Amino acid sequence: SIVVVGSLNMDLVMRMSRAPIGGETVPGLDFAMLPGGKGANQAVACARMGANVIMVGRVGIDPNGDVLKAGLAADGVDAREVKGLASTHTGVASIWVEDDGQNRIVLAPGANGLLDPASVARANTMIDMAGMLILQLEVPIPAVQAAIDRAFAAHVPVLLNPAPAAPLPDEMWKKIDILVLNESEATAYASLDVVDPNSAAEAGAQLRARGPDRVLVTLGAQGVVVVDGGGARHFPAKKVKAVDTTAAGDTFIGALAAALCEGQSLDDAVALGQAASALCVTRRGAQTSIPYRRQLATTAVS
Ligand code: ADP
Repeated sequence: SIVVVGSLNMDLVMRMSRAPIGGETVPGLDFAMLPGGKGANQAVACARMGANVIMVGRVGIDPNGDVLKAGLAADGVDAREVKGLASTHTGVASIWVEDDGQNRIVLAPGANGLLDPASVARANTMIDMAGMLILQLEVPIPAVQAAIDRAFAAHVPVLLNPAPAAPLPDEMWKKIDILVLNESEATAYASLDVVDPNSAAEAGAQLRARGPDRVLVTLGAQGVVVVDGGGARHFPAKKVKAVDTTAAGDTFIGALAAALCEGQSLDDAVALGQAASALCVTRRGAQTSIPYRRQLATTAVS
């Protein structure tokens, strides 16, 4: 199975012709509450690609937490280690989308911010038996560190998506097998602006020198650059009509991880990730837009 240690958020999405300035009220054009959070998105993406998934995280004891847990269960994700905490609220992202496509997001982490090493330790046996551990940085670094240490000791491969980018201890880099990050995160960690396949290859090589065996830099519509022991390779993205790129990276990671856990080669896993994320960007929403494996049946991926 795949163990995901990470965040769960309820996305409150409002569309407006323009955002208000201080003291102003403007009409919202529409509103939706959609399950999100990078951790939950990646867990759902793995599950929809056919993997057995266990999620470790924290929500509040409130309706949003119930909806998020029920959503995971509906996708077959084992959410027993997604506990409710009475002292705070479920993570919430308030997302304002202007008609011109510009987004403004305020993220209140709530229970995500209280995930600690002791919470992770409850899942130690599950980590020990996992085929892969997946993490992001929307939960506190000590919890991330504890999970990575445990997986490393048990020889379980670690996939880290360092999003949002934050400083990481040197020893943590050395325990990461697969690092997957987008251009803005790669720019934050490397010494150059990542804008295209060439700069992504350079940044990937810099990050690989810190420890990860394989570094994958995603470039939106420009595809993915893989840097591993064989050098750097560029995989162009599939050409699609993108309407909403939310969860594109999460979908890519879920499909990549599911394929790797099936024993597929890295190149085949990247191809499945790109097929899944290309379909994701043609649909609106976060978890709502993550495809199921059978919907990729017409693509040339085994
Ligand atoms: P993030 O959502 O983390 O910013 P990216 O935007 O880099 O991640 O997208 C991840 C992957 O999703 C890309 O590598 C690509 O395969 C796919 N993707 C994203 N945007 C598009 C697009 N406009 N057209 C086709 N594929 C896309």
